[in-house]
Amino acid sequence: AIVRPTPESDAELAFEGALRPKTLAEFVGQAKVRAQLQLLLQAATLQNRTPDHILLAGPPGLGKTTLAMIVAQESGRPLRMSSGPAIQHAGDLAAVLSSLVPGEILFIDEIHRMARSAEEMLYLAMEDFRIDIMVGKGAGATSIPLDLAPFTLVGATTRSGLLPNPLRDRFGFTAHLEFYSEAELEQVLVRAAALLDLPIDRAALAEIAGRCRGTPRIANRLLRRVRDYSLVHERHGLEAVHAALSLYDVDELGLDRLDRAVMDIILTRFDGGPVGLNTLAVSVGEEAETIESVVEPFLVRIGLLTRTPRGRVATRAAWKHFGLSSASSSAS
Ligand code: ADP
Repeated sequence: AIVRPTPESDAELAFEGALRPKTLAEFVGQAKVRAQLQLLLQAATLQNRTPDHILLAGPPGLGKTTLAMIVAQESGRPLRMSSGPAIQHAGDLAAVLSSLVPGEILFIDEIHRMARSAEEMLYLAMEDFRIDIMVGKGAGATSIPLDLAPFTLVGATTRSGLLPNPLRDRFGFTAHLEFYSEAELEQVLVRAAALLDLPIDRAALAEIAGRCRGTPRIANRLLRRVRDYSLVHERHGLEAVHAALSLYDVDELGLDRLDRAVMDIILTRFDGGPVGLNTLAVSVGEEAETIESVVEPFLVRIGLLTRTPRGRVATRAAWKHFGLSSASSSAS
């Protein structure tokens, strides 16, 4: 019943696809990023050239894939979609790059997970629209230069800090996506409910907006669970929201089970911290990268966690939210 920030099934992917905004105007929130992208695209159109390479950074579900699709749509260019984990060898990347049509937008999701050898090929491709293909092995190996069609790379990453500097530097523009405000999430939900033809009142949507980790993907997913609940139990509005969210273990702050597991370890096993990232990851049985780029940004944002040079520390608000008190403070 964990509400994870990445899609888990084909049905969820189809659902997300149906709700994806198609234009910058339809895209809710991130006003600064939208204005920046708009300018970049318009300038490229006026100069009749491919737009600069774009890096989209931020936690899962904040709209990176959606923005890549919008960039293609608004600039009237075809879009090719790939991802870091699918590029395990330089050859995988060479195959994609050499088959791009002029002006194509290449979207690489989770670009920080691409093979190192491919990263190096990408530097040259981004800069000069050219790659060197190695043929043969050992002493007889030669490299054959290959010109590419001009393209725009749109990379997405959960943390731009995970990218090597030479790669990061080759993006003309980096957009840092922020968690959404409750008002913005309510707008996302109003739009989704209308698209799905769901009769649901504003108070119910506001409640979901406050409990979706600042993330549109989670907002839409919770709306789906509430819709299910209404369908099965014939309960509607706020009542359905409360019942469905409690069934799926979403608490008043919208924390999911992994968020709570992390906070629980820090509070009860380490008396509030500091706890090192790796210790934390091992304790909850997750990868350090997931803790750092998915779980922590939201906990920090809502003021339950702080990062210090010595490790992660629970705030006073965290003790309060979980109804606990520190062993060291109660002893004194
Ligand atoms: P990411 O690539 O960052 O993980 P996505 O672009 O796949 O996130 O967005 C997840 C879902 O959330 C999309 O299907 C879309 O319906 C919704 N969404 C994301 N951002 C917005 C937004 N700004 N306005 C409306 N819906 C959004």
